[in-house]
Amino acid sequence: MTKKNIFIGGAWPYANNSMHVGHLAALLPGDVIARYFRKNGNPTLYVSGSDCHGTPITLRAEKLGINPKEIATHYHEEFAKNFRDLGFSYDLYTNTMQPFHKENVQKQLLEINKKGLFYAKTEMEDFCPECGKYVSDREIVGICPVCGNIADGDQCDKCLTALTPDTLKDKKCKICQTNTILKENTHLYLELSKLTGKVQEYYDKYKENWRSTAVSETAKYLKEGLRDRAITRQLKWGVDLPIKGFEDKKVYVWIEAVIGYLSAGQEAGRRIGIDFDKFIRSKDTISYYSHGKDNIPFHTVILPALLTAIDEKISKPEMIVSCEYVNMNDEKMSKSKGNLITVNSLIENFDADSIRYYFIFNNPERKDSSFSLDQFVTIHNKHLVGGYGNFVNRNLAFLSKKFEGKLPKLELDKEVEAEVKNTYEEVGKLIEKGELKFATEKLYDFIQYANRYYDQSTPWVLAKNNIEEFNRVTSNCIYMIANMANLYEPILPKHAKMIKQLLGLKENLPWGPVEYDSSVVLKEVPIMFDRLDATKVDLSKGSGDTLSVKKNNEMSM
Ligand SMILES: [Zn+2]
Ligand SMILES: [Zn+2]
Repeated sequence: MTKKNIFIGGAWPYANNSMHVGHLAALLPGDVIARYFRKNGNPTLYVSGSDCHGTPITLRAEKLGINPKEIATHYHEEFAKNFRDLGFSYDLYTNTMQPFHKENVQKQLLEINKKGLFYAKTEMEDFCPECGKYVSDREIVGICPVCGNIADGDQCDKCLTALTPDTLKDKKCKICQTNTILKENTHLYLELSKLTGKVQEYYDKYKENWRSTAVSETAKYLKEGLRDRAITRQLKWGVDLPIKGFEDKKVYVWIEAVIGYLSAGQEAGRRIGIDFDKFIRSKDTISYYSHGKDNIPFHTVILPALLTAIDEKISKPEMIVSCEYVNMNDEKMSKSKGNLITVNSLIENFDADSIRYYFIFNNPERKDSSFSLDQFVTIHNKHLVGGYGNFVNRNLAFLSKKFEGKLPKLELDKEVEAEVKNTYEEVGKLIEKGELKFATEKLYDFIQYANRYYDQSTPWVLAKNNIEEFNRVTSNCIYMIANMANLYEPILPKHAKMIKQLLGLKENLPWGPVEYDSSVVLKEVPIMFDRLDATKVDLSKGSGDTLSVKKNNEMSM
């Protein structure tokens, strides 16, 4: 039987600020799923990239007096390094500034245009006569209709009401404080309303694979019926429109960034030697998308609508691996509260595998989770130091010390064999369903099983009075260690590699029971995981705004 093709799209972080733990919790599942399917022998493509266009970046660039490209490049490089440090195995991590992406967006828009799904609409828009340009929601200030304070065009920070510029009184341009006027402007609209039926069909077909928030969020949009949306913005930074009459505008990021999945898949395929057009249109392709809950409608409404408009044969987001928010010590995490933990800060303080483990084991799959340093330390010390690491170290270090690192011949117990086989089957099924928390719990059950086996068999006593029994028990333990490394590889790739090197196992092992080679002699056995002490962790290390730090350093030079 040929194995299904697997396409995995990780959400595209926005290149305007460092990533925080919420982003990480939403993105890690994609990597675990990709690593699993590659081991399982499925042709797999796993892609993502940095989202580099849009108003927040241009506004920040204006404020700092620099080019938007400088900001986007700074954070893109930071994200790419974060992902490398944490062992993400993207086939391609790219960004929306790449020429191949821009060309692809234009190609797909022309495809949609051919279907007659775009129309032009002229509306009155705010214009600053002093600056001589149209101003967006975020470039406008005015009087809030609700509380009477000065508010931005999209939100009042005083009373937290979401606003549109037409509700504000005494509207001014944020930059020059001149009163704006209304002036006609023509935008291009996508007739999403026409695609409601198709998106509904898609939703009915796949929703049972999704988590409840993804189901309810999508249902909300479908109930109201999809609304046509402008695909153009009056900006200088972004992807050019390939359509006549709109040369002065750019493609709105909501449509451009999701088309990025196709751009990145195409480019990754080209580099690896996979025919992406065929791959993504095959009936045997399953697509997984991993992201946070605020991104759900982009993946369950906008993306399937666009894919339908481009070509109905393209594989739709079948498996939506969405997650809820990560709080900090049970409080909402926010920049203004100053309690945001950045990915930079985690990497400064902890081992990469330990970070991966915590955010998968404690993933906000169904409800918000809460990050706390004490909990991080407790889970690390209990599961990784006391469970996994302890089992590996007490067996291998003993052999290394007392038996010159020589491994006994494998005499596999039926019960151990069954336990290992069963763990592969159950964990595999859970990962395929995107149930990573349950998969991690199942794996931890196996760790506990192994440690019980060791404690009950007392190999340290057998070593003195029954060497044959010692060899048998130890061979089962080493068998379990080899398989632990293999089973945990999607979550803890760095430690899988360490153990495979120690036992002389092959680098690319398939998903399924593996035997070790008893002719291998152990070299020095390193401690797998160091115990963590919460008092020695400093989460302020590596936090803070890296762009400002960089700018300040440049200026002082
Ligand atoms: Zn102005
Ligand atoms: Zn207000």
